[in-house]
Amino acid sequence: MNKELLMNVLSKNGIENLRPPQEKVLKEGILEKDKNFIISIPTASGKTLIGEMAFINHVLQPSKSQNNNETGDLEFLPSGKKALFIVPLKALATEKFDEFREKYNKFGLKIGISIGDYDSKENLSRYDIIIMTSEKLDSLMRKKNTTWLNDVSVVIIDEIHLLGDKERGGTLEIVLTKLKMLPIQIIGLSATIGNSEELATWLNAKLVVDTWRPVELKKGLYHPDENKVDFYKIEDYKVVICENGKNKECKNLKNYGSSKSEISNLILDCIKSSGSCLVFCSSKRNAVSEAKKNDLTKYLKETEKEELAEISSEILNILEKPSKTCEQLSECVKKGVAFHHAGLAMKQRKLVEDAFRKRLIKVICCTPTLSAGLNLPCRRAIIRDTKRFDGTGFSNIPNMEIQQCIGRAGRPGLDPYGEGIIVVKKSSEVGDNLYMLRGKPEEIYSNISNKKTLRIFILGSIFSGEIVSFYQLKQFMKNTFYAVQYGDYEKIVEDIKDEVIFLMENGFIEYGFEFDNNLKTDYKVEKEEKILNYVKYSNEELKPSAYSINNISFDENGNLILGNSKSAKNVNVKNTKNEKKGKKYNYEEYELIKDKSTTFKSTKLGNVTAQQYIDPLSAKNISEGILSISKDKIDINDPRSISDVEKRMLYFMCKSTELRPLLRVNKYEYEDLVGEMMAFDFNDCEEYDNICTYKTSKMIREWINEASETDIFEKYKVEAGILNYKIEQIKWISHATREIFRALEMSGTFEEFNCDTSIKTFIKKTIEDLQLRIEYGAKSDLVELLGVKNLGRVRARKLYNSDIKTIADIATKKELVVKSIGKIAYKVFEELKIPYDDIIIDNKDIKISSLDKKPKKIQKTLDNFF
Ligand code: ADP
Repeated sequence: MNKELLMNVLSKNGIENLRPPQEKVLKEGILEKDKNFIISIPTASGKTLIGEMAFINHVLQPSKSQNNNETGDLEFLPSGKKALFIVPLKALATEKFDEFREKYNKFGLKIGISIGDYDSKENLSRYDIIIMTSEKLDSLMRKKNTTWLNDVSVVIIDEIHLLGDKERGGTLEIVLTKLKMLPIQIIGLSATIGNSEELATWLNAKLVVDTWRPVELKKGLYHPDENKVDFYKIEDYKVVICENGKNKECKNLKNYGSSKSEISNLILDCIKSSGSCLVFCSSKRNAVSEAKKNDLTKYLKETEKEELAEISSEILNILEKPSKTCEQLSECVKKGVAFHHAGLAMKQRKLVEDAFRKRLIKVICCTPTLSAGLNLPCRRAIIRDTKRFDGTGFSNIPNMEIQQCIGRAGRPGLDPYGEGIIVVKKSSEVGDNLYMLRGKPEEIYSNISNKKTLRIFILGSIFSGEIVSFYQLKQFMKNTFYAVQYGDYEKIVEDIKDEVIFLMENGFIEYGFEFDNNLKTDYKVEKEEKILNYVKYSNEELKPSAYSINNISFDENGNLILGNSKSAKNVNVKNTKNEKKGKKYNYEEYELIKDKSTTFKSTKLGNVTAQQYIDPLSAKNISEGILSISKDKIDINDPRSISDVEKRMLYFMCKSTELRPLLRVNKYEYEDLVGEMMAFDFNDCEEYDNICTYKTSKMIREWINEASETDIFEKYKVEAGILNYKIEQIKWISHATREIFRALEMSGTFEEFNCDTSIKTFIKKTIEDLQLRIEYGAKSDLVELLGVKNLGRVRARKLYNSDIKTIADIATKKELVVKSIGKIAYKVFEELKIPYDDIIIDNKDIKISSLDKKPKKIQKTLDNFF
């Protein structure tokens, strides 16, 4: 595709001209399909469109039968090639999915999104553009039925600088290392980072850096005592002299009267001139308290007040029972202000974001998470706090994050300029604050040596067969960003060994020489032990003298021979064909031969762990938990046993690293929790981490016993957003637990442990029940009713208490259903295709006797329910 064709496609989406950085990437050759790119340009300058330009080039082609009309309007068709768009957050995936569907469905392109279960059987092969996270791609790349991946010819990675993220960066690095070995064009979209050249070198990519912004960004420091902002002119990370000949331009603000907030003058100054503000605070609590301090009622129009009041009441109705957070948010929203942080439920966040985009909500006080990619521009971005608590003390927020926050300022077409302002807390901090404002970005570092990342990667690649030997593992590491950054990969070899040992010792992988099948099993076992020792102590054991004599030699054909006795068997090891008998090998050569011949394969436990995409350490805890329960003397006829086994099983599941961070335990609850743990025979209650695990499992237990979000918040101080996240994670783990149980069953492990069949069945049933209850957040008796979409556990319980326990009951006791759950019954009947025109749903404002007579207003009221 050439520029003209590309512009033809873009113009159908209202893009007539390219912005300077977009022109630049075009000139640098983004339409050459084998050229990788790293694009580092400021927030909101049009990075996504660069990604679009790249995928249009791959997935669309001009139709051959063009009846070229005079307007030059061309027809385009899908080319059959696929594009992947990798985003860091699920919320962003949904945003991009909606955007791309709207823009590209008209070309016949099918847009997919894949953010669900890691082992789901979804069929992605029918999509042309698929949006997913890097973890999802990692999990897909190890599956055997994903041949459609061969049709992918371009991958766009949004926010590629997250490679530097301690928790998740390693997985992205692994995915990229694999991608760069394939004939796929890689387009990395990045925020400004200190070492973008290094990143580009690694990916063999052309680097395009540009500082162009669609709206000018003024950067300043606000001094609350003097109520003034000093704006600085900054170029190349240096303050330059302003037009007035000084190094700053001072703007004195009006005093809008006394207020509880130190920054309210700064906020009001912007609101008064029809601007909107984002205020970045260091913690959730600070975001809430800052929002509460600001009341904009005086500055709102009557119509705005009405609309805000509606949103405010919607916020109250989102949860089963409004929590304190809902009440606080609802109060703030009435006043034109909101807070936004990870504690909010998805629907609350969306309401806030939409109202801000519509300029109804004028100010959002948020944590810097909002800066990570969500498309929410404002006139003035205020950094209220430049430090935050990092678990041990207060530390500076990284410059890169500060720049992303202030980069949100300036809405194209709406604001003449944007303003990014840092609030100066102490005069002694002016220097530091100015340094942040200048914004020299940090460098990013490889995080591939993160133990969890390595464990997951090694097991995954052995499972998929991508990597079978130590040698290949090392070869892989040669291609990582780590190797580029540290000049070699040797340092990581020890870490790899540790994880290989971990995987072997815990039964995830086993040593799988390419023995011929006639080899005696005991011989294999002996070799396995040797190799395990080799991996463990190779530095001592692998001295050529200790290793070469008697243990390894070659036959005339170059085949490796193991063992020294006459009965030793020939082992055909790949890549050793040219080795000659009698040759003396030096240490490195032996090492190489050994590495090449040390092949691994994954066990049944390893297979499910890799398939479920969970941390092998989590799988180890779960399988050990299952086995420890199976060794107990359980009286399966005693109802208390069910609850005991359930509690213990949940505890082992909560040990999973996927559930982190755990709930913290304070000194007042410490003793009670330890007491409870001891009553359950949890003898590991001495470690603080385990007590936190127990507390977390207790919270999940409350959830599946139908406690409301509000009750949970009151007891555990966990807000809806965080609770939802934990529930999502435990759902995933509970599903994996069921699979792990199956793997143990298939490997005959229970028999090895002399576990009674009835106990095994009992544990199995407990795990299955738990999985369902976690899925629905309810006791098991509600499971059938909860299968009805949108019923929800509170209404399901109401029905159950009215003796409507099954779907058949709903059909036969329609009036009772209406009486129990009111107008929502109408939706339930519709979903279950139960005719209901014989029923009159009658309450204060609704009277429906058939679908046709539904008045419009009622429909709206009903829609608000969902
Ligand atoms: P980034 O990803 O860099 O943060 P976006 O890609 O979201 O920024 O772009 C910000 C806005 O600019 C979007 O609304 C986008 O549609 C718009 N935009 C991008 N490129 C152009 C262009 N060439 N002409 C007009 N609008 C554009």
